[in-house]
Amino acid sequence: MNDAVWPGELASLMVTHDEGNAYDAVVPPIVQTSLFTFNDYDQMVSAYRGEIVRPIYTRGLNPTVRMFEEMLAKLEGGEDALGFASGMAAISSTVLSFVEPGDRIVAVRHVYPDAFRLFGTILKRMKIDVTYVDGRDEAAVDKALAGAKLFYMESPTSWVMEAHDVSALAAIARRHGVVCVIDNSWASPIFQQPLTLGVDLVLHSASKYLGGHSDVVAGVVAGSKELVARIRAEAYPYLGGKLSPFDAWLLVRGLRTLPIRMKAHEASALEIARRLQALDVVEQVCHPGLMNQLPPGLKGTSGLFSFIFREGVDIRAFADRLKLFRLGVSWGGHESLIVPGEVVLQQKAQPNSAHAFGINARSVRLHVGLEGTGALWSDLQDAIAAAS
Ligand SMILES: *Cc1c(COP(=O)(O)O)cnc(C)c1O
Repeated sequence: MNDAVWPGELASLMVTHDEGNAYDAVVPPIVQTSLFTFNDYDQMVSAYRGEIVRPIYTRGLNPTVRMFEEMLAKLEGGEDALGFASGMAAISSTVLSFVEPGDRIVAVRHVYPDAFRLFGTILKRMKIDVTYVDGRDEAAVDKALAGAKLFYMESPTSWVMEAHDVSALAAIARRHGVVCVIDNSWASPIFQQPLTLGVDLVLHSASKYLGGHSDVVAGVVAGSKELVARIRAEAYPYLGGKLSPFDAWLLVRGLRTLPIRMKAHEASALEIARRLQALDVVEQVCHPGLMNQLPPGLKGTSGLFSFIFREGVDIRAFADRLKLFRLGVSWGGHESLIVPGEVVLQQKAQPNSAHAFGINARSVRLHVGLEGTGALWSDLQDAIAAAS
């Protein structure tokens, strides 16, 4: 080791020489650091006083994370965004920023199971009640929102894919002065931009389509400067569900191909949904693209849907025969996946409720990946033949 020049010194020389530029690299560098140092006392005190915007500690501000947040805010048509370590961190930090003990939340029925569990455990202990409504019933939503503090939406909903008129529901929430939040993981900003439909805050499990490669667990929330600032002030730093620089870098990579991936998922999944619907062994296909028309504001459909087999189909045999579709939870990546409903209903996590999630024991959830429609359909046909 050369005593005169240490690798650390070389690294800092490179940064000063080429600050903010990274030699015009086409891919931005990962600023993989926990803390940032200051040139002198005055610079440090200015940063602490908030007179200059300069990262101090990565739990607060990190340039790579910030890059992802700015990209996502633009994609969703928001003023600001905040990245999180998971979709659930985005959900819990967002909801907890707007409720207090004694408050009531209204949620559309069949929300993502772990959101349902957050509401039924931690929020319940905090004396926050949750009322579930059928989001397709606007009169019921209107009635439930009287006196509520927050409206939690998902459209379409997890598993049964109930799709809502998001702008109509957001308008009802606005009339009641209720903060309106939506989980937009399914549609992605390519097919639905809830902020432009009147929703206050849009959040994602970035582990799904935003990342798109099944190699990151992350979340994000976007909205107006004012509402995002409220989350940033307390829940974000103190609950600490911070997005890591490396994961943010993977998300920046994923976002570059989001539009073309979404269009490929859409085309393949719609074709497979239509073919499944034509089969005798299939009782029902739950895919918003098979409705007469998509609800206003939904401009396309993604690769995730479910269907229900008729009685007599051996779902275990079906699952075990599939080759391209693999058994696995999550979705939104390049790969095709299935989850049998009857497996989810045996999950140990509590509360667990077929009724709350809308899961039929004969249903199967499919994520249609990017392998190609022809090969995926042959795979399904073989497995259905083996199971019926
Ligand atoms: C996966 C998922 C979440 C949770 O996201 P994580 O990144 O796994 O924490 C939230 N909402 C929906 C609709 C999801 O599918």
